[in-house]
Amino acid sequence: MAQDVAIIGAGIIGLSIARRAAREGLSVVVYDRGGAGAGASNVAAGMLAPVTEAEFGNPELLELGLAAAERWPAFAAELGVPLHTAGTLIAARDRDEAEALEREHAFRDRLGLRVERLRPSAARRLEPALAPTIRLALHIPDDHSVDPRAVLAALAADVEVVQRDVASLDDVEAETVVVAAGAWSGTLADVPVRPVKGQILRLRDPTIGSHPPLLDRVLRFEGGYLVPRGDGRYVLGATVEERGFDTTVTAGGVYELLRDATELVPGISELVLEEVAAGLRPGTPGNVPIIRRDGRAVIATGHFRNGILLAPLTAERVVSELIGAPA
Ligand SMILES: Cc1cc2nc3c(=O)[nH]c(=O)nc-3n(C[C@H](O)[C@H](O)[C@H](O)COP(=O)(O)OP(=O)(O)OC[C@H]3O[C@@H](n4cnc5c(N)ncnc54)[C@H](O)[C@@H]3O)c2cc1C
Repeated sequence: MAQDVAIIGAGIIGLSIARRAAREGLSVVVYDRGGAGAGASNVAAGMLAPVTEAEFGNPELLELGLAAAERWPAFAAELGVPLHTAGTLIAARDRDEAEALEREHAFRDRLGLRVERLRPSAARRLEPALAPTIRLALHIPDDHSVDPRAVLAALAADVEVVQRDVASLDDVEAETVVVAAGAWSGTLADVPVRPVKGQILRLRDPTIGSHPPLLDRVLRFEGGYLVPRGDGRYVLGATVEERGFDTTVTAGGVYELLRDATELVPGISELVLEEVAAGLRPGTPGNVPIIRRDGRAVIATGHFRNGILLAPLTAERVVSELIGAPA
């Protein structure tokens, strides 16, 4: 007998929807041509950062991000995955970056978001590994992070994932089909989603245990970020490239990330480089996700830079649509 719901895509979006739908009593199957976590979700850094990611002229993204961030403590607890709640620093390296950061500060302040302007000495008291040459920093206490791979593993343990490449929605038998195919969603449904490539590095401190971690907080800067996991592992990302469905890693991408990050945190040059990867963010024209019904299909895609953050909120909205409840 066909399931109530078939979900195409076992990234964080498809798996979060599957888990929630099953809890509502629906029978669910998830199809992915590469198995669970074959797309962007397995590459992502895991910042849960609506305040840092706030864009001028995009109140919808901010509203979604804040609503999603509120759901994360309960979601993480349900999955048994730790949240890293040390907050975020944004650092400026020169005068131009400092001026831009002043504008970012004023913008967030006007919106009533919690953000604190720090002189270099105060920023270095919080994060002593920061280079003495930084010009200015913002402290964003409510933007946190999570390890997306731990989240994917916890979600996949609860959900049936069938390895299958779905060529068309007509090939799927279930009553409702959810398109959660990330950057590839445009091959299955009429949605303006495009792949936006990001290269990212995974680093590890081999001497952790003999000294405190290099960084406690997520560190953002022009062109990238460093995300500490709290156990000596760090993620350094990410390039933003319009190159179609290309996931090669390049010497130039790795060089730029390491050059910028070592300028801000010289100590990272001592870390072990464990992995270099590239993923495809599902981009949309307005940088906001597409969540809507389209006949027998429900579309849940286009989460661009914030799919990890937006996963619990997206699952809630899609499952409300599936069971006919108001969101
Ligand atoms: C470098 C990088 C860093 C990022 N950092 C962050 C971050 O810090 N915080 C944050 O919130 N977001 C971050 N993101 C964004 C986030 O990763 C994405 O928004 C999110 O992973 C999208 O999830 P998804 O489930 O929609 O897509 P994906 O994880 O890409 O999953 C889609 C799945 O669909 C499958 N699929 C596609 N087509 C088919 C088909 N026809 N048949 C069967 N299966 C199919 C694919 O194999 C894939 O597994 C980052 C992204 C990148 C690339």
